[in-house]
Amino acid sequence: MSSSTPGADSPMVIVGAGLAGSLLGVYLARQGHDVTIYESRPDLRRTDIDAGRSINLALATRGIVPLVDIGVIDQVDAITIPMRGRMIHVVGDPTPDLQPYGTQPHEVIHSVSRSDLNAILLDAAEATGRVTIEFDARIESIDFETSQLVFDGGRTEPFGVVFGADGAGSRVRKAMGAKGSSDFETEWLDHSYKELTLPPAADGSHQIDPNALHIWPRGQFMLIALANPNGDFTVTLFAPNETFDQLTAPNKVDSFFATEFADFAALVPDLAEQYFENPTGRLGTLWADGWAHQDKAVLVGDAAHAIVPFHGQGMNASLESARSLAQHMAAAGDDLAGAFAAYEADRKPNADAIAQMALDNYIEMRAGVVDPDYLAKRDLALELGERHPTRLSPRYNMVMFSTMPYAEAQSRAATQGEIIAAAIANPAIDVDALVAELDPLPSLDPLADPDALTNS
Ligand SMILES: Cc1cc2nc3c(=O)[nH]c(=O)nc-3n(C[C@H](O)[C@H](O)[C@H](O)COP(=O)(O)OP(=O)(O)OC[C@H]3O[C@@H](n4cnc5c(N)ncnc54)[C@H](O)[C@@H]3O)c2cc1C
Repeated sequence: MSSSTPGADSPMVIVGAGLAGSLLGVYLARQGHDVTIYESRPDLRRTDIDAGRSINLALATRGIVPLVDIGVIDQVDAITIPMRGRMIHVVGDPTPDLQPYGTQPHEVIHSVSRSDLNAILLDAAEATGRVTIEFDARIESIDFETSQLVFDGGRTEPFGVVFGADGAGSRVRKAMGAKGSSDFETEWLDHSYKELTLPPAADGSHQIDPNALHIWPRGQFMLIALANPNGDFTVTLFAPNETFDQLTAPNKVDSFFATEFADFAALVPDLAEQYFENPTGRLGTLWADGWAHQDKAVLVGDAAHAIVPFHGQGMNASLESARSLAQHMAAAGDDLAGAFAAYEADRKPNADAIAQMALDNYIEMRAGVVDPDYLAKRDLALELGERHPTRLSPRYNMVMFSTMPYAEAQSRAATQGEIIAAAIANPAIDVDALVAELDPLPSLDPLADPDALTNS
């Protein structure tokens, strides 16, 4: 047995039983490893860690693939709601306008409760029979000299390999930084967010269309809403920090929402109460170089590449990274250091690409979706995509509905953007000829089944 293959005295541990950590647990178990996952919070299957609020996320093709791979997609199907496009709410217009995401039936994204999805993944990890999850176990630091995990309270446990799936504020990454193996920095936005709930109607139904991602774009800020199966919506206000600083009293909150989001405010009687009860969250991009420490530690998910939420890809990218890490480990056999290095070389350029596209998408969501120039370009991109389905796909669709590497989606989008801008500036240009010269779009991952989730 190679020194890098963990034995009984040097177990494989995952820090963090969130989405990436629990998925990775399934993959490692499938490769024959016994794994312990340490999770700082209580078991969300037994405790309401969201304090009564449903918090949901948009699940897209890249996130769906690993869920198909580990065989939980039917369970996930039961808890998702398809969203076919953006429903745009403009000030003073009582009728919102649907901008479909695509022209194909499978080009929909899916609203899913974060904790319900996490519960499915925790069950799947435990069902392997090889994964033990210890809750209420917070890792404080890691001693790489003695290969010991140090817990909050001073307890220690030995490890052979540690997988850091402990989110944006990762302790594993911090410990790797202290050894010089990881160099990282968080670039904070001067915008923050607050989650609110749009309750169900008296009969339990959704008060607005559940099959769309609702956006109230207001230039510098925006509100978005995603439906939950129980009839309510998770609503998020994204705004500059100064806006949050000004909303210091209930009358200010009520008047802000009545002015900016009147149709929404009319549906939520306890808006100000919710506003002050719920925390305000910061938004940042983690730029991390160095995702591994020898054959001892490696980062996955937000611990390696936390991004701002404006492309709805943080979870999708995290699930994709967990699968990628497992694939590199399977390919490298006992050479764990080689597997970790290959995984980082593969994923880091793609993580950087989605980080940048997520930042760009904030401007698109809060302002672009009502900008005539943006809309003309998007319409032309969709039209060209329909005429040349093997050559061109709008950027949003390459990110959300394909499995091509993010960096490829980013560079293709730049080239396509130039063609589209040129065609709009000069309608005499033969745009079809230019599109026909583009390299063919890569095929989807074989597990990217368009019918994996029922779209009804
Ligand atoms: C407002 C908002 C909206 C979002 N919307 C979307 C969306 O629509 N689509 C999408 O794809 N993504 C979205 N995301 C991003 C998504 O939430 C994250 O990318 C995803 O949760 C990352 O999963 P993870 O498992 O890597 O990290 P996390 O979900 O952060 O999980 C980390 C786990 O580690 C545990 N942990 C942390 N520290 C320790 C420790 N020291 N010891 C032990 N355990 C520890 C935590 O308790 C947690 O369970 C959104 C994010 C935000 C903030």
